[in-house]
Amino acid sequence: MKKLILGCVAALAVTACGETEVGDNGEVNVYSSRHYDTDLALYDDFTEQTGIKVNRIEAEADALIERIQSEGEFSPADLLITVDAGRLWRAEEAGVLSAVESDVLAERLPDHLRHPDGLWFGLSTRARVIIYNKEAGVPEGLDTYADLADPAWKGAICIRSSSNIYNISLLSSIIANDGAAVAETWAKGVVANFARPPEGNDTAQIESVAAGECRIGVVNSYYLGRFAGGDEEQRAVFDALGVIFPNQAEGDRGAHVNVSGAGVTVNSPNRENAIAFLEYLTSESAQRYFADGNNEYPAVTGLKGNSALEEMGTFRADTLNAATIGAGQTEAVQIFDRAGWN
Ligand code: FE
Repeated sequence: MKKLILGCVAALAVTACGETEVGDNGEVNVYSSRHYDTDLALYDDFTEQTGIKVNRIEAEADALIERIQSEGEFSPADLLITVDAGRLWRAEEAGVLSAVESDVLAERLPDHLRHPDGLWFGLSTRARVIIYNKEAGVPEGLDTYADLADPAWKGAICIRSSSNIYNISLLSSIIANDGAAVAETWAKGVVANFARPPEGNDTAQIESVAAGECRIGVVNSYYLGRFAGGDEEQRAVFDALGVIFPNQAEGDRGAHVNVSGAGVTVNSPNRENAIAFLEYLTSESAQRYFADGNNEYPAVTGLKGNSALEEMGTFRADTLNAATIGAGQTEAVQIFDRAGWN
């Protein structure tokens, strides 16, 4: 299946290399690092509504960015869809995105979930939340990310490695909110509270906290949604956990959220179609599908998360712009290194 699609886009590239003028031709070529069947249903629905065919290539974000770069001005890519502000920033830095002005997108998406110059648009969000083992009791006084560095939680915290982009983006948000010095002290404090050296992904942290191997964990909300809506075994894991949305006190900044987002590419041969597709993805029904596919929150203002997410309760999100979070990646990595967070 994948091979066939690759072939199709390769053929397009050949056309683009030839003499024929490149313009909107009833297609849109999507390079996506998301791999959800619900995304496919969306593509079909868009085709049905508009007659515009969606060709897609799936790969890891960095590989897609490199590919668009190496394809250069003959790239068939119209739209890059990826996950995490850090990766969107990498795409921006690589120069593969182009600014889009769209009243529809500006109206539907809150400011902090789209690039200030329209280089990309957030389509769904996830929160980085604190979890705890219910049997071990509610960790009193643990209400904010800053609290994770409190010596009260020595030996209690499981969290994945600092090479992971979710942690890099979280630290970047702390740098932007509180400054680099506070961020570094925080990182050192959390390292001092590790239950074990970082290992495994967010799912592994969830399982470890549920099993009582660590009292406290830090994970993305959609992993919890998967366990909540999963089979009996997964549900039991979810039921063993309490969820804390950090920084919810009045006047506080809210929980750190990150985005799945998309941007129109710099040499898009079907630019109008790409914008139409982006706008379609912010329609209410598309938002539902797009967000539900990975238990994420819709990016469009006023839409709720699915039932698995609703179970965890509502929360206020930090409205720091995702572009700022992306831009702080390098400094965050340096701070993690100095803090000894492997
Ligand atoms: Fe993930």
